[in-house]
Amino acid sequence: SSAMTMILDGKVHAERMLGEVTAAVEARAARGLRPPCLAVVIVGDDPASHVYVRGKVAACARTGIRSVERRLPADTPQAELDGIIAALNADPLVDGILVQLPLPAGLDSKRALHAIDPAKDVDGLHPVNQGLLLEGLPGLRPCTPSACMNMLRAHGVELKGIRALVLGRSEIVGKPMALMLLEQHATVTIAHSRTRDLPALCREADLLVAAVGRPGMVEGSWIKPGAVVVDVGINRVEDPALGEVIFAADPGKMKTLREKGGVLCGDVRFQEAAAVAGAITPVPGGVGLLTIAGVMANTLQACQAR
Ligand code: NDP
Repeated sequence: SSAMTMILDGKVHAERMLGEVTAAVEARAARGLRPPCLAVVIVGDDPASHVYVRGKVAACARTGIRSVERRLPADTPQAELDGIIAALNADPLVDGILVQLPLPAGLDSKRALHAIDPAKDVDGLHPVNQGLLLEGLPGLRPCTPSACMNMLRAHGVELKGIRALVLGRSEIVGKPMALMLLEQHATVTIAHSRTRDLPALCREADLLVAAVGRPGMVEGSWIKPGAVVVDVGINRVEDPALGEVIFAADPGKMKTLREKGGVLCGDVRFQEAAAVAGAITPVPGGVGLLTIAGVMANTLQACQAR
């Protein structure tokens, strides 16, 4: 990477956000108030989901947030899941409810998300919270994009009037990210699988947020010199032939792929992009760490709003 490229270290920002939550939880305790409480519902045995849930429970322990876990078998009927969510909604000691996605086949995740009390919806995916975001009003906002905004703010990245390109239009990352950038007066383009001339669009972007789920799709030549690149993608690459292409500028990653049989990478070819960008988030060590900090911040917010 060029000498001028700044690596946006997710760990540094996650630690700062977690430190702020910890201080607020301690301040509550000093006033005789109970700690915030997050309830995590996990259905089935998807290994990645269990890793994420463990990370969230560990972050609760670190910040002084109480956590309760509801582990349900993959064949849980929807009515039973509805009942568990209703009980958590009614529980005065529970501030935040998080249903870990994806749910096993046969369960309707929209129905589950819509069943959560919007005031406890720490993932910010209930239509009431989506509507509040659309209106620019305070509410619980999706953790990944709000943590990305927090990081950009901490770095003093100017958003007003810039050209921002959000690659991906999911409810959980792309769409809310675009709305948050718009709120900060960026000129926002949202690109997706039907977008034409994507490389040319990317080259116009002062800020590029990639949330696609395709390893190394964004090439170095797509980056505008000096642009800020936020790579949300978390992908595992196992195929050496694909690795040879996307890690051409990254012998270290290629070595790990060969040694471990797989390697994590973002949607952006990190080494290629870092040679051009002004600032960039790595994968791993970037946005992934921020998301969990965002869940903690939202749980605190939900608790303090009650
Ligand atoms: P989704 O699969 O829900 O959305 C992907 C988006 O990318 C869609 O809008 C899709 O377009 C678009 N897309 C797919 N292929 C292309 C293409 N060839 N060209 C242009 N656009 C394309 O993914 P998520 O938003 O849930 O997640 C995206 C990535 O971020 C994943 O790698 C995921 O693992 C990661 N992630 C990371 C988090 C973190 O904490 N860092 C949190 C959440 C997700 P269309 O709508 O047209 O299909």
